[in-house]
Amino acid sequence: MQNIKKIAVVGSGLVGSLLAIYLRKAGHQVHVYDRSPDIRKIQFSGRSINLAMSNRGWKALDAVEIGDVIREIAIPMDKRAIHLVDKLNFQNYGQEGESIYSISRGILNRKMIDLAEAAGAEFFFEQKIWDVSLDDATLHSGETERGAWEDKKYDLVFGADGAFSRIRHRMQRQSMFDYSQEFLPIGYKELNIPANADGTHKLDKNSFHIWPRGEYMLIALPNLDGSFTCTLFMPFEGENSFQSLNDIPSVEAFFEKNLPDTIDVIPKLTEDFFNNPTSTLVTMKCFPWTYKDKVALIGDASHAIVPFYGQGMNAGFEDITVLYEMMEKYGDDWKTVFSEYEKSRKPNADAIAELSYRNFLEMSSKTADENFLLQKKIEKLFSDKYPEKWIPLYSRVTFSDRPYAEALAIGDYQNEIMEKVLKMDNINQIWDSVEVENKILELLK
Ligand SMILES: Cc1cc2nc3c(=O)[nH]c(=O)nc-3n(C[C@H](O)[C@H](O)[C@H](O)COP(=O)(O)OP(=O)(O)OC[C@H]3O[C@@H](n4cnc5c(N)ncnc54)[C@H](O)[C@@H]3O)c2cc1C
Repeated sequence: MQNIKKIAVVGSGLVGSLLAIYLRKAGHQVHVYDRSPDIRKIQFSGRSINLAMSNRGWKALDAVEIGDVIREIAIPMDKRAIHLVDKLNFQNYGQEGESIYSISRGILNRKMIDLAEAAGAEFFFEQKIWDVSLDDATLHSGETERGAWEDKKYDLVFGADGAFSRIRHRMQRQSMFDYSQEFLPIGYKELNIPANADGTHKLDKNSFHIWPRGEYMLIALPNLDGSFTCTLFMPFEGENSFQSLNDIPSVEAFFEKNLPDTIDVIPKLTEDFFNNPTSTLVTMKCFPWTYKDKVALIGDASHAIVPFYGQGMNAGFEDITVLYEMMEKYGDDWKTVFSEYEKSRKPNADAIAELSYRNFLEMSSKTADENFLLQKKIEKLFSDKYPEKWIPLYSRVTFSDRPYAEALAIGDYQNEIMEKVLKMDNINQIWDSVEVENKILELLK
């Protein structure tokens, strides 16, 4: 299909290693560089992060026949377990049989590097890439930014080097390069729910657990070893904030009062709380993503989003699906491959950035709101009966591969309809009636 190229991928993260597999499938010579040591040879640090893999991610993995190997290290979660202060609610994510999958980032990344190596990609670790010469696709690496650099010349370079990409940094210095970066005033910290003595999970293992508390929330995703990785999302400053939880008594009192059912299951609460870092969350947008037929950004390097829709990696994997479609369509014409790739992906990256930003509100506040739960019940009932007329927004994003931009637009339209439905008299009593069904049908006309 294409002339064989010598290609460098900067970054051996999830996106870089999957991209390497795809480029090898197309027959290219592939070198992957990472500034970090080989993660297969080191112990994980305090940050273990679980990711939720959904349809777009699986599609990209299945297309290169590695989906089943990855499924072996993933746990399906078919519902949200919503821990209110005084009760526990469950809410299915999609239709019967639809789940998102909890997977450890570290375990997944190790596996992906193994698979990329098996496919013939060569990995070079502890190689810091400081800069790239865009016109001749040459990487510049070295021990320090100001020390001696070595040049590595390629036909093409992909920047899969994450939200603070050096490859993008070089592209930013050109005129007509748009760039924005916005930090949330909310940070996150990881905590841990260990396994029971017999290796079983302390909470339902097939649920995504949420403790929604308005301006802050705790979530927990299951691990294969019986533990859960919890993430506390909370403002940096203010009444309930990382700043206000500054000593052991304040953390203990806060959890006892606001998250009482976690006390028994997080035994090392204060130890984890003060040992684990508080990390920031950033949305980064930029354009263009490519330079001539030489350099392209992919994954978080081109679109970093906040994690509240569980779509960052999924979106990065979908970048690869689309890039490969363009490679099949335009063959050796890399300039067109790149320009069609970025044209197709940019509106969708912006849409998932917006949806992810909005989803913090949905997870942290609305899941505790009776009206919102009622809305979801009505939508579910209607979409079960008329699946061709109503796919809920969450399902469009998570269980389909239709464009994110389409999901955003249709989701806004559906919300307008539901606002009217929720204003119907006695909606709490008649929510499952023919009257409500007819009202939705009428509004959809
Ligand atoms: C708290 C949290 C929860 C998340 N949850 C989900 C989720 O549930 N589902 C989901 O789909 N996504 C989730 N994400 C997003 C997901 O983690 C990212 O979108 C994904 O990891 C991006 O992968 P990447 O390969 O593009 O970048 P990265 O994972 O950042 O990898 C970049 C790689 O490049 C290397 N590198 C960087 N600079 C250089 C350099 N100068 N030279 C050489 N190497 C370099 C780094 O060492 C790294 O290995 C979450 C993110 C966070 C923070």
